Amino acid sequence: MTDAATLPSRARRLDAEDPLARYRARFIGHDDPAVPAYLDGNSLGRPLAASVQRVQELMVEQWGGRLIRGWDEGWLELPAQLGDELGRTALGAAPGQCLIADSTTVLLYKLIHAALSARPGRHRVVIDRDNFPTDRYVLEGIAAERGLELDWLEVPYDGGADVELVRSVTGDQTALVVLSHVAYRSGHLADMRAITEAVHDTGALVLWDLCHSVGVVPVELDAWEVDLAVGCSYKYLNGGPGAPAWLYVRRGHQQLTQPIQGWLGSEDPFGMGQGYSPAAGIRRFASGTPPIIGMTAIADMVALIGEAGIGAIREKSTALTQFALEATDALLAPHGVVLASPRNPEQRGSHLTIDHPAFRKITARLWERGIIPDYRNPNGLRLGLSPLSTGFEEVYRGVSAIAEELAGD
Ligand SMILES: *Cc1c(COP(=O)(O)O)cnc(C)c1O
Repeated sequence: MTDAATLPSRARRLDAEDPLARYRARFIGHDDPAVPAYLDGNSLGRPLAASVQRVQELMVEQWGGRLIRGWDEGWLELPAQLGDELGRTALGAAPGQCLIADSTTVLLYKLIHAALSARPGRHRVVIDRDNFPTDRYVLEGIAAERGLELDWLEVPYDGGADVELVRSVTGDQTALVVLSHVAYRSGHLADMRAITEAVHDTGALVLWDLCHSVGVVPVELDAWEVDLAVGCSYKYLNGGPGAPAWLYVRRGHQQLTQPIQGWLGSEDPFGMGQGYSPAAGIRRFASGTPPIIGMTAIADMVALIGEAGIGAIREKSTALTQFALEATDALLAPHGVVLASPRNPEQRGSHLTIDHPAFRKITARLWERGIIPDYRNPNGLRLGLSPLSTGFEEVYRGVSAIAEELAGD
């Protein structure tokens, strides 16, 4: 049991000893006195100061100066180029398998259809009950459209999918399993390698959603033989509100076809010909014109992840959630707050969810004070700790403010 009185000095010491502490100053607003604790980096990462310059250069020099020539001078290549960089620094993916495009929702739609068409004759799909709504809704829609049965994985409230659960609902009729690597609510970190292997044993494919893990949890998509993956870029990739998503299609699956047959996924977009013939390689998973301004800021965070190293980022992430957990036990548990995330740091991502019936009400008061976690039904406050922009004292300020609001409630 941590002594509450020692938390502030421990936070100071952890900050002083943190090898990644110097990166905080690169983020806009890191020292804003109006925001004493930003605990929602898992929903919208802070902007990097470098991105202001990059966006300005794009607008003034490239767009303003080069005009339409910009497409031939790099923009058309950017989705695959940035995808390769992301693959290298954060995903364990060799070049030619990642692409920046669309939103996570749209990419789920495209890759679920692509996977199902590759498993004709199998009529069942699997997803967990506590997956993010958009993942469930897209899969439910496609299942209805294609006449498939949905098998729900019932996961523990403070946990998520594991190999035994997955084995219990998959079989020779399973076409596809859709899972999140880190569960958006509980923060549970799934064993991607073991589950992928278990799904492959049944002959099915697996589509992993990495929205809550890309940039904070190291993965080896190639080595773990992952089939398909998607993720967003505005959470721990700090790409900004509505920044486009990314997909991974393993090289051996790049003969798959996706349902949104747009010109930029075709073999010869500027041939403007009749009939759709898909491009070879990862570009066949593109559809329309890539959002160049929207993907510009992602490049800065991908470069920073490369500089800091995804292994060191994971270490700090674990230390942050561990400290937040100790502070929760010491300051919030006496008010009746309970943990709704795994206690074992190896089984969680970079956020904690804590539950209390008063959280919905006090979230508004916290936001007014510039203490910014987020609220998720039914009673959860999520503390999202973005390792490169969050400090230990910041976590302490956040948790102690929550304790003050609960005491005053
Ligand atoms: C954030 C998140 C999304 C968001 O999808 P959008 O299309 O970007 O709105 C989807 N799935 C998961 C698991 C998420 O965490």
